[in-house]
Order: sequence, then structure tokens, then C-alpha cells
Amino acid sequence: MSEHLFRKLPSVTALLELFPVADGCPHDHVVQAIRSELASLRSQITQGTLAKPFPSLQELANSIRLRIQHAATPALRPVINATGIVLHTNLGRAPMAHAAVAAALESAHQYCSLEYDLYTGKRRSRQHGARELLCRLTGAPSATVVNNCAAATVLTLSALASGCEVIVSRGQLIEIGGSFRLPEIMTVSGARLREVGTTNIARLQDYERAISPETGLIMRVHPSNYRVRGFTREVGLAELVTLGRKHGIPVVDDIGSGAMLDFSAWGCPGEPIVHDSLSAGADIVLFSGDKLLGGPQAGFILGRKDLIDRVEKHPLMRAFRLDKMVLAALDATLRLYADPALACEHLPVLKMLSLPLPELESRSLAFANRLRDIPGLQVDVQPSKAYVGGGSLPDVALPTWVIALESSTCSEEEFAMQLRQGSPPVVARIQHQRLLIDLRTVFPDQQDSLLQAIQTALTVAG
Ligand SMILES: *Cc1c(COP(=O)(O)O)cnc(C)c1O
Repeated sequence: MSEHLFRKLPSVTALLELFPVADGCPHDHVVQAIRSELASLRSQITQGTLAKPFPSLQELANSIRLRIQHAATPALRPVINATGIVLHTNLGRAPMAHAAVAAALESAHQYCSLEYDLYTGKRRSRQHGARELLCRLTGAPSATVVNNCAAATVLTLSALASGCEVIVSRGQLIEIGGSFRLPEIMTVSGARLREVGTTNIARLQDYERAISPETGLIMRVHPSNYRVRGFTREVGLAELVTLGRKHGIPVVDDIGSGAMLDFSAWGCPGEPIVHDSLSAGADIVLFSGDKLLGGPQAGFILGRKDLIDRVEKHPLMRAFRLDKMVLAALDATLRLYADPALACEHLPVLKMLSLPLPELESRSLAFANRLRDIPGLQVDVQPSKAYVGGGSLPDVALPTWVIALESSTCSEEEFAMQLRQGSPPVVARIQHQRLLIDLRTVFPDQQDSLLQAIQTALTVAG
């Protein structure tokens, strides 16, 4: 019954005539866009969702032109993050320090001493530089770095506990975005999960009773993206370490975010610190590079040398290894931690999290004043709350200031959509029918572009 609609579809050749060669767009791209447009129309006809009246040739040409433009735009583009969420996983987590970016670039466009000892002229592990720095900074006896913390977990479990049981408290069986679920990771690595305690309570005796000749590891996992509250109890790391030592079982501490400094002074309490975990005696500590550490995506494995050696000999090590750009960026990031003041000044994540509220307020007021000239836009500066993001500190709302915008000509959804589709794209929050701009995560040198983007979005929407 939709036959007559199918018959109305123009041919590829007919549509091609609408796009003169002089347009400068490669012929293949035009044909591909036309085919996609026709395929989309056919499926709309089949599903009965095609809008009436049937689109004119001119309308089809416009849609095809948009498809061509879309295909020419990279999927991964720089974005202005106006959400105030410092570690926004969908927006690439930690922006890197200039020194880290420069080091990555330098390693990328020339040859570099990735696996080469310039002193002896012989091959050397690509882990060498990161290992030395990490050991010096944290006091860990040894260290190795892989693609991310998920890889670090799989690798550690595979190398140290394949065919054995790993004891974990039930309250710590985390899932982190997508498909990273601890019980499944155990299965993949060939280890057997031995859950102890209940969702809210785990006692030392629970761990003690679970120990058997089958036990390969005791693992503690930081519940980074949730909290169990109320009548709860978990066994501290030091107690687990004492138990592990008594039975000769290594203790692995997955702390997730990898804070190198104490964040509690900046209103972020309760994040485990790498150094504390090592000094409590954890045999292995795991954490991410692009969360609170503020570096590139990476996963750290720190701890006992004999265990790290076993991890590095595992065949998966090769599959999870880092490339030269990331290693160079990591090196430059870690070097900033030699002096905490330097780290806070140069690492964007630390700078944003430690930004004093009065400073954020005055920046917001100044920016709001620049927006007041835009007709039909109501502008308010108000206190608000933001989250750190990236699965860090899920229940700690960071006090912040926002610029709340309301347009008299378009809805907040339309406004947000136009901002996302602008150039550069801007991502903001929506709350109570208003668009919220949080300057905490907007770099000062992006403010002019942000102003322009807001003006353009309103013009297009209005
Ligand atoms: C974030 C997180 C991971 C995963 O880290 P990625 O670097 O994203 O792979 C693993 N464990 C914990 C506790 C985490 O918080």
C-alpha cells in the first residue's frame, strides 16, 4: 500500500544533477550521501513514519547537503564543557596540562627513545621512565602502566590469580559504566570470585573464614561511583594486609580515582590517596590516569616487585601496553607532582577543583554582564551544586556558581541543542527550565568563544 510512495522516490541520477561538480565536493561523497538519504526515506516509508507531504526535490537536496557536511565533520571534536563536571567521562575526562600535551606532540612527530637506552645503546622496557617516576613519587617498590584501570584489573587478576579464588566483600562488587562489572572481569581473567559478608556488612572473620588453599588474592575495591550508607561496616586495608601476611596472600587495592594529593581540603573528602594505600601495606595498588590524577587515559599497577614482574610477563601485558604519546604525556604529568603547588597550578583538573568559590563567583558575574546585552535573554548568577564526575565522589556535591539563562524566544532544550551543534560545540546543564553555565570547567581563554556561541545559538534558535 506504500507502493505509490516508493514510486515517488527520485533516482540517484536525478538527485546527482542537483549537485554540480563545481561544488568542489568529491563525487563519491555526494553519491554516498544520496544513497543514505534514499535509504532513510525507504525505511520511513516502510515504517509509515514519513512526514506528509512527500519532501520536495529542494528539501531532499538540503537534507543531502547536511549529510555531506556531517560526514566531513570529525566525530571527535573539541568541546566547551560548561557543565561544571570536571571529570566528565563522555567529554574525555581530564583535560591535560600543557606540558603533557607538548611532550605527547614531541614524541609523536619524531623518533624517540621509547624502548631504547641511550646510555648502553640496548633495548630497554618502555615502562622504565614511568616506573622510576612512580616509585620516586609514591615510595612503591615497583610499578607498571597499561591502557586504563580496567586493563590494570584484568591483567593483575589474570597474572596473579588465574585458577585461584579472589576474596572480595559483597559491598564492593562494582559496575563501572558499560560492561565493566567486577564479577565478570574475574571470570574473564580465570579467577574465581569468593564473595564475603553482605551488601552492607563485612567483618574480618568473614575474610578469615573464606581463606583456603585455593585463595590467590584478597581484593579491596573502592566503591567510587556509589556509597553504601547507614548500618554498614567494611574491613580496613591495614587489617586486610595483616590477615594477608599471616596467610601469605597478597592484597590488591583498587582505589579507582588515583588521588596523589589529599582532596579533602577542597571539599572532596573520602577519596583514597595512593600513598596511604601503599603505606597501609597493600601489595598491589590500582588506579586510573585520567581521573583525579589529571593525566592521559592510563591504568597504574604499583606495588611489590615480584608481583609486578609476574604481571609484566603475562601475555596480556602486550595487548594493554601504552603508546609513546601517552607515555610521554604521563611522564610530564607525573613530573608536576614533584611539587604539589606546581601540580595545582598546572594540572587543569586540580586547578578547577581547587578554584576558590569567590573567584568563580566574580568570574561568573563578569561573564553574565557581557551576556546582558543579548536581547530576549534573562541572565541570573546563582549558587549551585556540581559533581566531580568520572565516577569520583558520587555523593559529594561541590558548591559552585552558575549563570542561569532563559530565552524569551526558544525553549531550554532548543537552546541547549543549538549550543551543542554550534562551532565550537558547547555542552551545558539544564535545570528547572533554565540553561546553566558553570564556568568552573570553562577555560578562561574559551570565554570569548562561549559568548559568541551563546549569541549564535540564540540567533539560530530564534
Ligand atoms: C574508574 C574505575 C575503574 C576503571 O578505570 P578506567 O581507567 O576507566 O578503566 C576501576 N576501578 C575503580 C574503583 C574505578 O573507580
